[in-house]
Amino acid sequence: MIASKPYVIAADIGTTSTKTLVIDRQGTVLASHSIEYPLYTPRQDVAEQNPQEIFQAVLDGIKHVLIKAAIAPEEVLCVSFSSAMHSLIAVDEQLEPLTACITWADNRSVNHAEKLKREHNGHEIYLRTGTPIHPFSPLAKLMWLSDTNPELVARTHKFIGIKEYVFAKLFSTFVIDHSLASATGLFNLKELDWDQEALRIVGISADKLSRPVSTTYRLEGMQPSYAKHMGLPADTPFIIGASDGVLANLGAGAYEQGSYAVTIGTSGAVRGVVKEPVTDPQGRLFCYALKEDFWVIGGAINNGGIMFRWVRDELATLEAAEGRNRSLDPYDYLTELAAEVPAGSDGLIFLPFLLGERAPYWNANARGVFFGLSMAHHKKHMIRSVLEGVVYRIHSVVEALEELAGPAKEIRASGGFARSAFWRQMMADVLGTPVLVPDSIESSGLGAAQLGLYAMGEVSDFSGIHDWVAATCRHSAQAGNHDVYKQLLPIYRQVYWNLKDSFDAIAAFQSAGDRLTP
Ligand code: ADP
Repeated sequence: MIASKPYVIAADIGTTSTKTLVIDRQGTVLASHSIEYPLYTPRQDVAEQNPQEIFQAVLDGIKHVLIKAAIAPEEVLCVSFSSAMHSLIAVDEQLEPLTACITWADNRSVNHAEKLKREHNGHEIYLRTGTPIHPFSPLAKLMWLSDTNPELVARTHKFIGIKEYVFAKLFSTFVIDHSLASATGLFNLKELDWDQEALRIVGISADKLSRPVSTTYRLEGMQPSYAKHMGLPADTPFIIGASDGVLANLGAGAYEQGSYAVTIGTSGAVRGVVKEPVTDPQGRLFCYALKEDFWVIGGAINNGGIMFRWVRDELATLEAAEGRNRSLDPYDYLTELAAEVPAGSDGLIFLPFLLGERAPYWNANARGVFFGLSMAHHKKHMIRSVLEGVVYRIHSVVEALEELAGPAKEIRASGGFARSAFWRQMMADVLGTPVLVPDSIESSGLGAAQLGLYAMGEVSDFSGIHDWVAATCRHSAQAGNHDVYKQLLPIYRQVYWNLKDSFDAIAAFQSAGDRLTP
């Protein structure tokens, strides 16, 4: 018997770059390569990319990672894909883009998202599709395009996302995996097909969208010129894969019920796994597919690590400079100062809503608040309270998730915040749950590789990911600190709800006169 091929290539199409990895069956990353491309933001509400630039990055990325890994192309079992969610491109029959790739960050459909909520029973659509009604969703984007550019919509052959574009270029067919489909706002989670009512609202028929397929769907026989460019045999199997969000869960080893993945980079997110689609009666959380019996539910927050950046750059600039003078990373120095203050910051609470907020409140008008400030508080209290405030935001999402997905047994932490042992310990103390740090940096890519093995029938489930990803450290909740946070969290919640009307009033004031100078 011929031994099975030893390597999987994972291609992770992100918003800033495409990362390619060569991974062996032990989960060892033999080589990685990253190619960046621009996000075009000519106006504040526009965030577009060039589909051709991204396609080229995929081709070049695979080519370079193969060279770096120095393996024979015939030894590649498959190429498996991860991709950013929510993108939308209108293309004609020749696959020529009629629009740029409109990304999740594009805000032009903000009024249409509101209209969906108000006039089209948006909550019912969310309950069937699992995607919150928000300008990031292709549902809102399509409604905006239909309204503002009906002539373009009439000329469009297909509306597709960036991964569909890549597959259409390679294989001349329009297919979308259930995972990315479930993040369009147009896909019925129970039926695993396009939602007729959502299509009716945006005024397009299902034949203008790609054919939904399972995330294990395999294509072979790509255009020979592209195979040649990448240096792969043309019959190399390509696995369509899933979205970066759900694959990041798998790649962090958070693939069982009760294991929650928390990422805090610039923004933040909490995600848990359930066996069948679950939507939230209160509309707080998303639900996206990985496969038929593996769904990821969760919520994203705006005010993650960017709050600490705000502290470094605006609030504690002198202290940050002092850190630099001592040749320290300012973040490390600021956390040292924060550590001089006890858990709970002596009763100073920070509500970190500087960017409005998504889950679980979905309140664009929310604003930042220091609450409980007294003469006993110093700068280091403020620093600590900001770090705590970000973790309180994570706590709010975990609480909402626990209602639907059961209690959190462990948290797998990633993103810039996970560099700080102090911040990770704080998370364990606030949540009362152990916090682990998986040693995988490229979680989405690892998840894509594991899914590739599964799709090729080489493994029968995802349990092998535990051998791939070890936990580098583990923090258990400290009882004394946890008790302090248990006393403060209800106050934090109460302050938010008490200020709800005041948030609306101050947001109206700020937007009325353009009073916020940049
Ligand atoms: P991105 O969203 O761009 O991927 P990162 O994952 O790099 O961002 O996270 C950046 C954030 O991580 C920073 O804003 C900061 O809050 C946090 N961070 C980075 N380094 C440290 C550190 N040494 N200690 C604490 N927090 C840090």
